[in-house]
Amino acid sequence: MARPLAHRALRAEIIATARRMNALGINQGKSGNISHRIAGGFLVTPTGMDYDLLEPGDIVPMDFAGKHQGARLPSSEWRFHRDILRARPDVSAIIHTHAMFATTLACLGRGIPSFHYMVAVAGGDDIRCAPYATFGTEELSDHAVQALDGRKACLLANHGMIAVGATLEAALALAVEVETLAAMYWRALQVGQPVLLDRAEMARVLEKFKTYGQQPGRQSHRLRP
Ligand SMILES: [Zn+2]
Repeated sequence: MARPLAHRALRAEIIATARRMNALGINQGKSGNISHRIAGGFLVTPTGMDYDLLEPGDIVPMDFAGKHQGARLPSSEWRFHRDILRARPDVSAIIHTHAMFATTLACLGRGIPSFHYMVAVAGGDDIRCAPYATFGTEELSDHAVQALDGRKACLLANHGMIAVGATLEAALALAVEVETLAAMYWRALQVGQPVLLDRAEMARVLEKFKTYGQQPGRQSHRLRP
């Protein structure tokens, strides 16, 4: 008898999240990729496969040395998934998308400054844009890890965005929020120069976010930095 598939529930959750990010309109087609930490490594979406056709066995287990198991090849972006998970013990889930507005700003080499207090959901007073490097390279991975320092999201120049979290649900919610902020910022830029909140105000917001959306006595799934 064949051995039961390890991490079946988590694999199914990764697939559901991939389909959801496309259904939510924050990613297109086969671009984008998702990973989740497991003991000694991580699970990542395979390269070049239609999310609607994915089955749990198609999700690729990898170790931190970069070796993969199973029949499928991992996403071409497995390096930054590995390096972020290695650098950030607070992170278990990573979502990478080519969301329309986040990517539009990234193509201008612009991050998202403190034009709206919700920018703080990404963990600081801005959402940085990592410099451009070819997809799949160690250079891009290094830029991404650096842009995510003290943050839970970043843009990737001429490419897309990354959102991370303790759970897939939290990372997806953050990706949606970053895309919403990118769309607002883009619109504001069409009319004039958006007014930025100063550091003191953003520090106040970050402090308030530590307790925002938490109901007494139960775990909250609300976005928090
Ligand atoms: Zn990409």
